[in-house]
Amino acid sequence: MATRFRNVDTALIHAGEFESRVEGAVILPIFQSSTFEYTGQTSYADLRYIRLNNTPNHQVLHEKLACLEGAEAALVTGSGMAAISATLLAVLSSGDHLLAQNTLYGGTYDFLTQDFKSLGLEFGLIDATSPKTWGTHLTPQTKAIYVESVSNPLMQVADLNAVVAFARQHNLVSIIDNTFLTPLFYRPLEEGFDLVIHSATKYLNGHSDLVAGAVAGSSRWIQQINGRLMHLGGSLDPHACFLMHRGLKTLALRVRQQHATALAISDFLDRHPEVCRVYYPGLSTDKYHRRATELFDGFGGMLSFELKGGEEQARRALKRLKLAADAPSLGGVESLATRPVTTSHSGLSREAQQQQGITDGLIRFSVGIEAAEDLIDDLKQAIEG
Ligand SMILES: *Cc1c(COP(=O)(O)O)cnc(C)c1O
Repeated sequence: MATRFRNVDTALIHAGEFESRVEGAVILPIFQSSTFEYTGQTSYADLRYIRLNNTPNHQVLHEKLACLEGAEAALVTGSGMAAISATLLAVLSSGDHLLAQNTLYGGTYDFLTQDFKSLGLEFGLIDATSPKTWGTHLTPQTKAIYVESVSNPLMQVADLNAVVAFARQHNLVSIIDNTFLTPLFYRPLEEGFDLVIHSATKYLNGHSDLVAGAVAGSSRWIQQINGRLMHLGGSLDPHACFLMHRGLKTLALRVRQQHATALAISDFLDRHPEVCRVYYPGLSTDKYHRRATELFDGFGGMLSFELKGGEEQARRALKRLKLAADAPSLGGVESLATRPVTTSHSGLSREAQQQQGITDGLIRFSVGIEAAEDLIDDLKQAIEG
């Protein structure tokens, strides 16, 4: 178990750091060396080699992330999808069945729908907000249940405590993608989940300058997932490890401000006469507010909204925004806005988009760390223009 720190702010800076500084350097240098001297290791996985995810730049991240998630162990990966695919391929074997939330991140949904069959795997999609419906989707081969802490782009908050209880009752491995909330606002392992996954591309790194992933859980699971990852080759390069390490240290400062600004923006949008719907669990009128308040320490920096003028007004507003770039992805220090039908959810069929409520006029906003007042002024002129 990683050393416990009383406060997350301190853990972010000090957890996992090496006791002796390399040449006195205050910051861990980048070990840009593919291989390391043989020192008598007796197993392949203990040899030091970048693909085996065990250079000093990996080690410090593993320890720090394990501490943040309250996990025995953690592993960084070459992308969020590498973490997701390696985890699912470690947990599931040919013939197994997975229950997954029906609002999955697009890449995860594509992995299930496009690759599972050829791997001999099966899945069923569940409404994760409705526990009473889950039982009908179980099969004798169901091995695991997979959900997200806040869904994209409509910010649905599943009944996560029920997911843990259901997994225990049916002997399933419970897995959660906690990208949107980060360990600052939600620590799923403490609530009983077996494995927590992140696209570290988003908030953990926080600067929109790399692609990375992470998974945390018991040492036994992490060892098995690392085994898969070594074979699939999805390791994180030491330079990307270094950048992620740097980004991670300011996680608390960034996401606290993003959360506070998202609250202010959602409140502004909620009152604006041109806005017909706001999706943000921090709003007291939001459908998931009560559950999110019970489960989480904060609501994060992602929100979506719909304009009365539909697609045309949404297109115009995106063009008029001066601070937020019209771009997919999220979780960086700069605000981003996108119409999910053109980016993150363009892979879904029209029917699936409509079924989920992802309309042509929906705008998703990833709140950065610019001043709330400036972001609100910018949104105001964009909506009213
Ligand atoms: C971006 C994202 C992923 C995929 O991560 P990559 O780093 O792009 O591979 C997975 N889950 C969620 C919720 C995401 O936002």
